[in-house]
Amino acid sequence: MGRLDNKTALITGAAGGIGTAIAERFMREGAKLVITDLSDEKGQALAERLGCDYLHQDVTDEEGWNTTIAATQEKHGVLQILVNNAGIEGNISTGNPEEVSYEDWKKVHAVNLDGVFLGCRAAIPAMRRAGGGSIVNLSSIVALFASPNSAAYGSSKAGVRHLTMTVAAHGAQDGDGIRCNSVHPGLIRTRMLMDIHAAVAERRGISGEEATAASVGRVPMGELGEPEDVANMVLFLASDESRYVTGAGFHVDGGWNLN
Ligand code: NAD
Repeated sequence: MGRLDNKTALITGAAGGIGTAIAERFMREGAKLVITDLSDEKGQALAERLGCDYLHQDVTDEEGWNTTIAATQEKHGVLQILVNNAGIEGNISTGNPEEVSYEDWKKVHAVNLDGVFLGCRAAIPAMRRAGGGSIVNLSSIVALFASPNSAAYGSSKAGVRHLTMTVAAHGAQDGDGIRCNSVHPGLIRTRMLMDIHAAVAERRGISGEEATAASVGRVPMGELGEPEDVANMVLFLASDESRYVTGAGFHVDGGWNLN
């Protein structure tokens, strides 16, 4: 028996590292799955490999959210799980609050915060019709611990943390069985992290490997996390095993929160 049997789930940004790991985990647990992304080739290939559905979606497109949720309901009848995973890091080499461009600031907030807001807003009525649901929002440890080069990214992810609590309060108050929690990954081995390390390396005049080693040196458990480590936490929050958990934020960071 799967932990997500008879549940329909939607994952955004699933063509990439953490989203892909969540999709794989959900399929192994029996979910009926729809994945979305901007990257159609990778998204289609993943959907074919897993045997789920892929839809093109830009999470910043307000109308696109209605289309995506309607298509999911049309295919599977209901929507019980939404994972707001799509995210971008912005330009890290000019990411400090003195140099960050207004354009980059707005773009990062549009994807990381507006996209999550639009997703929550569109999913709530669908989950109410389904008799309840679970929304899992991907935030970051940077929401809680400042990093000098992540002005826009950190602000957007802190916004996700607060929005998560508001959605949870709303869901609990309405008594519709709609829960909402945030996950705060630390340093997870994906393209996004490698790009960040490459930008740090360029700025400091060191190699990418040296930048990665310096980051790992700050992780109490002494290693990078894997996308599957995050997927396992998301699975717990998506499933009924977490039925009494809402509004909470969960670190998946090898102890970074102890720094
Ligand atoms: P990734 O870059 O590997 O994957 C992100 C995916 O989101 C990509 O497939 C990309 O095409 C998609 N995407 C980007 N903009 C989009 C948009 N407007 N609409 C739809 N899809 C879009 O990144 P990842 O490392 O797998 O990150 C996944 C989530 O986890 C992000 O929200 C990220 O901020 C968060 N996170 C990652 C780390 C880490 O160390 N990797 C740490 C903390 C938080």
